[in-house]
Parts: sequence; C-alpha cells; structure tokens
Amino acid sequence: MARPVSYNVTQKPLERDISLANMPDGYQGQGFFASKMSDVVGLARKNSIWPLPFATSCCGIEFMATMASHYDLARFGSERLGFSPRQCDLLMVMGTIAKKMGPVVKQVYLQMAEPRWVIAVGACASSGGIFDTYSVLQGIDQVVPVDVYVPGCPPRPEAIIDGVMRIQDLIGKESIRRRNSDHYKNLLNSYGIQ
Ligand code: SF4
Repeated sequence: MARPVSYNVTQKPLERDISLANMPDGYQGQGFFASKMSDVVGLARKNSIWPLPFATSCCGIEFMATMASHYDLARFGSERLGFSPRQCDLLMVMGTIAKKMGPVVKQVYLQMAEPRWVIAVGACASSGGIFDTYSVLQGIDQVVPVDVYVPGCPPRPEAIIDGVMRIQDLIGKESIRRRNSDHYKNLLNSYGIQ
C-alpha cells in the first residue's frame, strides 16, 4: 500500500519561488545574448556578496535578526558570512568603535582583497552616535573609506537590508576599472593606504 506522501510535493511551479536576477542591457537573438563584460561581472558580484560582520555592540543584534529566517539576507545572495577578511568583499561595521579599536578595523579592511566595499551600520559606526566622548571614534570613515551609511540607533533589519541593496546598486553599476582609477587611488592615499 502506498504511503501518503505530503512532503517533497509541490503544487506550485518552482519559478514562483525563485526571483531571477535582472539581465544586463544587451543584444539578444536566437541562440545568443551579448552584453558588456563589466555589466556581467557587476551582475555576478552584486548577487554574491560575502559580508564580514564586524559587530561590537547592539547593532550587531539587529544584524543577527537580519540574517535569521524572518528577514533572511540569503535572499540577496549574502548568506555566506565570512570571518576571514581574505574571503570577504563587504565589511559591515556594526556598533560602537572605540578609538583603540580603530586600527583593528583598518587592519581587517587592509586584509580584504579588492574589490571591497564598506557599510557603516547604525549611528555609532557612522558618526559615533550618542557617544561624543574622548574614547569613541566619531565614525569609521576616519580610518577606512565608507560606501554606504545606514542611519538609526539601532537601524531595523529593513534598514540594514536597504543598505545592502544600496551596495548592490553600487556594485552592479561600478566599472571593473574603477579600482585602477586615479580618483580611487587618491581616496585610498588620503587614508594612508597604498
Ligand atoms: S547605534 Fe545605537 S544601537 Fe547601534 S551600537 Fe550604537 S548605541 Fe547601539
């Protein structure tokens, strides 16, 4: 007698559960699609970001919620967190950064390979937050260049996701040559980074 099977059976078409990435601009014909190299690289990069969470206090808890099943950052291709800077391309700094911690943030940034991006999550990482004191760094952009700032104390998971989506926009539109540009080199030089 056949067992009643209620699992592994899907009534709906699989496509409904999968959100496909938008194709880059290009030319399409029967059996071919042509686009720009930088658009294809951008498409791959933006949908496979590997974040490195650098969490020091309460904003880190919001990030935990962002990774958990309800908000599920995996939907954006970013479920693979890394704690080795060499394998990550997005540094997410979340929490109060003491001045003593500044060189550590910078060292982690330096250990990441190009291309790399940075999000300052929350008021503390962005500007020191309420801690206008002698011991707290008044924003991580004093030690590393920041691409996106997420406001809030703490920012809700939706705001963190919005920050990741802003980074995705940046990555998708970024030229693969940007890292060799004089503008970018000057930016790094201003932080004493070669
Ligand atoms: S911004 Fe607010 S919630 Fe986030 S680390 Fe600072 S004090 Fe905590």
